[in-house]
Amino acid sequence: MSAAGSTIPPTTAPRRLLARLRDVMAGAEAAQDRLNRVTSIIAADMVAEVCSIYVRRAGDVLELFATQGLSADAVHVTRLRIGEGLVGDIAAHANPLALSDARNHPNFAFRPETGEEAFHSFLGVPILRAGRVVGVLSVQNVTPRKYTEEETETLQTVAMVLAEMVASGQLIGRDELAPIDGIALKPLRLEGTRFNAGLGIGQAVLHEPRFTVEKIVAEDPDAELERLRTAFTAMHGQLERILDIGPLSNGDGGEHEDVLEAFRLVAEDAGWLRRTEEAVLSGLTAEAAVLKVKNEMRARLGSATDPYLRERVHDLEDLGNQLLRQLTGQVGQAQSELPEHVVLVARNMGPAEFLEYDHTRIRALVLEEGSASSHVAIIARALDIPVVGQVRDILSKIANNEAIIADGDNSQIFIRPSEDIQQTFHATRKHKELIKAQYAQLKDLPAKTRDGVEISLNINAGLLFDFDQIEAVGADGVGLYRTEVPFMVRAEFPDVEAQRTLYEKVLDRANGKPVVFRTIDVGGDKVLPYWDQFDEENPAMGWRAIRISLDRPAILRQQLRALVRAAKGRNIYVMFPMVAEVEEFDAAKKLLQRELDRERERGGILPEKVHTGVMLEVPALALQLDKLMPRVDFISIGSNDLMQFLYATDRGNPHVSDRYDILSPFALGFLKHVRDRCDQAGVPVSVCGEAAGRPLEAMALIGIGFRRLSMPPPAIGPVKEMIRSMAARPVASFVHSLLEMPRVSIRQRLRDFAKDHGIEI
Ligand code: PEP
Ligand code: MG
Repeated sequence: MSAAGSTIPPTTAPRRLLARLRDVMAGAEAAQDRLNRVTSIIAADMVAEVCSIYVRRAGDVLELFATQGLSADAVHVTRLRIGEGLVGDIAAHANPLALSDARNHPNFAFRPETGEEAFHSFLGVPILRAGRVVGVLSVQNVTPRKYTEEETETLQTVAMVLAEMVASGQLIGRDELAPIDGIALKPLRLEGTRFNAGLGIGQAVLHEPRFTVEKIVAEDPDAELERLRTAFTAMHGQLERILDIGPLSNGDGGEHEDVLEAFRLVAEDAGWLRRTEEAVLSGLTAEAAVLKVKNEMRARLGSATDPYLRERVHDLEDLGNQLLRQLTGQVGQAQSELPEHVVLVARNMGPAEFLEYDHTRIRALVLEEGSASSHVAIIARALDIPVVGQVRDILSKIANNEAIIADGDNSQIFIRPSEDIQQTFHATRKHKELIKAQYAQLKDLPAKTRDGVEISLNINAGLLFDFDQIEAVGADGVGLYRTEVPFMVRAEFPDVEAQRTLYEKVLDRANGKPVVFRTIDVGGDKVLPYWDQFDEENPAMGWRAIRISLDRPAILRQQLRALVRAAKGRNIYVMFPMVAEVEEFDAAKKLLQRELDRERERGGILPEKVHTGVMLEVPALALQLDKLMPRVDFISIGSNDLMQFLYATDRGNPHVSDRYDILSPFALGFLKHVRDRCDQAGVPVSVCGEAAGRPLEAMALIGIGFRRLSMPPPAIGPVKEMIRSMAARPVASFVHSLLEMPRVSIRQRLRDFAKDHGIEI
C-alpha cells in the first residue's frame, strides 16, 4: 500500500477527450449514432484523418461498425476474421499495434470498399471486456508518422469506455457477445484435465464476476482517487475475513496457507495500486480504472505460459473483483442464494473468490483454464472438492442452473446429462462411497497375502495435507515425499527456517512412521516460479534434480540443513533423485555429511540415524549396481522416469506413453534383476512410481519379489485388497514362467490369471 498518499501528475490528454465522450455517452441518441459521433470526436482530438470502430460478432469476425474518414459504404460491410489484416491481428493478440507505414506490414489486408489506400500510418488497440477482445479501435493518418506511447495509452483508455457500450447489448445482441458453438441445448461431454479426483453432480453456477460499471468517466478525479484508496483499505479488511474463515484456517501450516500468504502479498503490491491510480488520473472513475488495469493485465499476461505469471494474473483478477465489489457495492453470486448442490464453473478464479462461496454446497469445480498447481486447485484439494480444469470454452456452452456432472477421475464433464446418465453417475458415486467405506475397513488390517507374505504399503506425498492420509488409509509410512512440491506453490524460495518448520511438521504428522525425503527434483517441467527458466530442448533429460543440486550446492545444503534440524534426534531417510553416476551420489552424500558435522559443531541434536538412499530412475545407474550397493542404505525405483528413459518414450506424451508396457517380460526382467541384486546385497528396495499403485502391476511386482511399494494414497485401498486376495507363491511362479516369452505385453495373461484365481484387481 506504499503508493497511497503519493502524488501522481494528472494525465490531461485522455481527460479532455474523456470529458467530451462523456457527454456523448450520456446522450439519448441511438447507439449507432453515438458510435458515429464518438469516431469523429476521437479523430478530431487525436488529429487523425480516420477513426474506426470494429465490433466482434459471432463467428469470430470483426465488423466495421462506425468510421470517420473511411468510406461510409464500408460500414457493416467490411468484415475481417480474427487474425486477418491489422485489425484482426490486434484482436488475435489483444495487443496494440502502431505502424508508421501500415502497408508494409505483412498482415496488411487491403479492402477496396474502405478507400484506405491513402493512409500510411495506423494505430489500433483492442477493445477489451472481461479479458475478451470485443472489438478494435483504430486511427489512421495520411502522412507517415510515429504514434507516441501516450497516444496509445489514450486510445486504450477510450477503448475502455467503448467496451462498456459494446457489452451493454445496444449495438449487437447479447447472444453474440459470447461465442456459442455447439448446439445450445444438446447434452454435451467435454474433456479436460484432472486437477483433483472425485465425482461431483449438481447445478451449474457460473462464476462470472460481471460488474456493471455505469460511470466510466470521472467528474472529479481527485474524489475518485480518494474513493479508490478507501476501497483498497476496505478490501484488505474484507480479505482478512474471507481468508481467515473455514477449515483452511486451522493454522496447521498446510501449503494452502502458503498460497493464501502469497495472495496477500499480491494484494499489497504497490505497482498494481499505482497503475490503477494513474488510470484514475487519466479521467476514469475508480471502478473503470480497476477494470482497465485488470483487462490489460489479462490481455498482456493471460496467454503467458509461465505458471508463475499466470497465477499472478489470476490473483490480480481476483483482487480486482474484490475491489470492484467494494466500489460498486454489488454483491457477488457467492452471496446470492445457492442451490443445494453446486458445480462451480469459472474461466479461472483466485482463492479468495472461491472461498467466498459456501464450500459445503460445492460438489465440484470446473475451470476453463488453470493448472493442477494453480492456487484455487490447491485450496479445492484441501477441501476435498473434485476439480476438472482446462475444459475449453465451457462458459460459452452452459448456462446457470443447468445440470452438470464433473468427473474428476476421468477428466471429463457432462453438461445437461440425460436422465439415465445422471442416474448412472449417482449410482457410480454411491458405489464409490461404498467401496471407499470398504477400503476404510481394510485400513487396520495387514497387507498380507493369503500365504502369509507381508507387503509394506507406503504413500507418495507432496503437500502437507497428504500426510494426514498415512493414518486415513493405514499406510506404513511415506515412501516418497516430493519435497519440490511445497517449493512450487510458494511465492519465493523458502529459507532454511521455513523449510525446517515444514519438515518438522511433516515428521510430527508421520508420527514415528518413516518418511523418505527426496531432495528437490526441480527443472524440466517442474518449474519454480521464482527461478529463471531457460529453454531446453529435452527438459526431462536436462538440468534437473541432482544435477542442479550439485551445480548449486547451496540449495541442497540448505535443504539438508533444514532436514537435519527438523529431525531433532529422530530417524531420517534422504533420497537423491535422477542419479546417473555413483559419483553423483557420493558428492551429494558428502554435502549431507558436511551438514551433519556443522550441526554437531553448533551443538545441535543430531538425527538418531540417517539413512541415505538413491532413486533409481536413470538406466545407467542400473548398470553400476556393484559399485552402488555398498554405498546406499536403500534404493527406490522411480518407474515413471525409469520407463521413459528405458524405452525412450516421453511419459507425458499420450501418443507414445502407452506404447511399451511395464508388464512386459523385458521390463519386469529388468526390475527383477535390480531387486535380486539388492537382495543379495541386503539393501532394502521399493518401487515408488505410479505403477506400484495399480493392482495388476502391483501383483506382478510382488510376483518378481518386491515387498515394499509406495503409491498415491487413494491407491492403498485397492492394492491392499488385491494383496489380501492373492497368494504370493503361485503368482511368482506364473510371472516367472512368462518372463522368457517374446512378448511386448503380458498384461492380458496376468489379468486372466488374476481372474482365474479370484485376485481382486
Ligand atoms: C518416478 O520417476 O517414478 C518418480 C516417482 O518420480 P517423479 O514422478 O516425481 O518424477
Ligand atoms: Mg522421477
